[in-house]
Amino acid sequence: MYIEEEDILKHISAKPFRLVSEAADELNVEAYVIGGYVRDIFLRRPSKDIDVVAVGSGIELAKAVAKKLGRGTHLSVFKNFGTAQVKAGDVELEFVGARKESYTHDSRKPVVEDGTLEDDQNRRDFTINALALCLNKDRYGELVDPFGGLDDMDNLLIRTPLDPDITFSDDPLRMMRAVRFASQLGFYIDPDTFEAIERNKERISIISKERIVDELNKIVMSPKPSVGFDLLDRCGLLPLIFPELCALKGVETKEGIGHKDNFAHTLMVLDRLSKTTDNLWLRWSAVFHDIAKPATKRFDTRLGWTFHNHNFIGEKMIPGIFRKMKLPMNEKMKYVQKMVSLHMRPIVLADEDVTDSAIRRLLFDAGDDIDDLMKLCEADITSKNPDKVRRFLNNFRLVREKLAEIEEKDRVRNFQPPVSGEEIMETFGLSPSRPVGVLKDAIKNAILDGVIPNEYEAAHRFMLQRAEKMGLKPKA
Ligand code: ATP
Repeated sequence: MYIEEEDILKHISAKPFRLVSEAADELNVEAYVIGGYVRDIFLRRPSKDIDVVAVGSGIELAKAVAKKLGRGTHLSVFKNFGTAQVKAGDVELEFVGARKESYTHDSRKPVVEDGTLEDDQNRRDFTINALALCLNKDRYGELVDPFGGLDDMDNLLIRTPLDPDITFSDDPLRMMRAVRFASQLGFYIDPDTFEAIERNKERISIISKERIVDELNKIVMSPKPSVGFDLLDRCGLLPLIFPELCALKGVETKEGIGHKDNFAHTLMVLDRLSKTTDNLWLRWSAVFHDIAKPATKRFDTRLGWTFHNHNFIGEKMIPGIFRKMKLPMNEKMKYVQKMVSLHMRPIVLADEDVTDSAIRRLLFDAGDDIDDLMKLCEADITSKNPDKVRRFLNNFRLVREKLAEIEEKDRVRNFQPPVSGEEIMETFGLSPSRPVGVLKDAIKNAILDGVIPNEYEAAHRFMLQRAEKMGLKPKA
């Protein structure tokens, strides 16, 4: 990994680094930038969080730096953790004293003592995350790389600094982090490190779901998320943290007919979609889109393999899985449910005649998420048959054109029927009751089916006619 010294110095030339340097020399402590910030200089990635480790008190150093930075600087001290944070403008520095951690097998909480820089580097997760740049004046910009982190960066390797069985047993989340970094950076996991994950995978059970899902989100957001999910599968972590996704694996054959491997298919859809969107929840929708295929799989002697209603059953499975995995139980989940439930609609549409009425209904159901839905559906075409792919994509183009046309003409996206429930009750002297819902639905359907335009006058007239048929009379 070659990088000009000048380039390194450029990344630590901003005022806060200079002030850490001054303060450290005055306090007579060694200070280093360490971890992700240093790694990202070499990987030429943008990085914001700056971690500083002091061989001595991190808190004292932070206080001195905050004082030098002067007005507008915000200092937070976390005494219990021995850490402090300094914020000045958009720069954020985390300070910690170099520490030595020792773990016992049955506890997640290490015994922490003051240590040397090397002790501190030993407790880091991977060699590429253990690099340190000295900030003291006479060694400014000197790299301390005791584990060959630079070579590992050259070779695109994720490797633990110590015996991987120790590193992973001390904090089993590091197994997820190994996979996450491999997926995020396009790195490989060193074979010894990988085998240790296989051996220690069960220890993941002591880690909180929140920490696990943070890593999963980062895997989902990586450039090619299938890399991460494949690794999770191969090392045996996937069945422990996301068994429903694992259940998509495999191909069954009956009477000479097989179905596709839905795990491989799902990952392919996720990768394809990830090329077109950075929306985390749209990407999660791809992960979940076929989640109910195992539950709905049947073999029919005439039709072969079927997965009837897997979209609706999938929608229903999502809250349970989200709750268990500590994914958010809010509008993000509802969005994923909506995507999963609607993901067959454009395909069915493209397969048949694309009628105005079907398009209006799709627009009505998808609302503002229609563009996201179309992206998901386009990514879902993973057939190896080029004719089929061409036909589908062509039909989708047609669906998109029609969508734009109908939206322009009828404005049914986020559509509210022009006659409200209140007006219906008022007109016929009804209290909230079934006939009100029936009338409201009839008006909505008439508009979506194109029987009447999406306008107040027409809807009002339609309401009166339909009410008469139902034996309802307007109030005198
Ligand atoms: P990202 O910012 O993408 O999450 P990062 O490595 O840059 O990744 P942090 O997760 O904040 O940032 O971690 C900062 C540094 O702290 C890491 O580079 C590593 O040295 C160390 N570190 C973080 N988590 C662990 C852990 N679980 N075990 C050991 N070291 C860790």
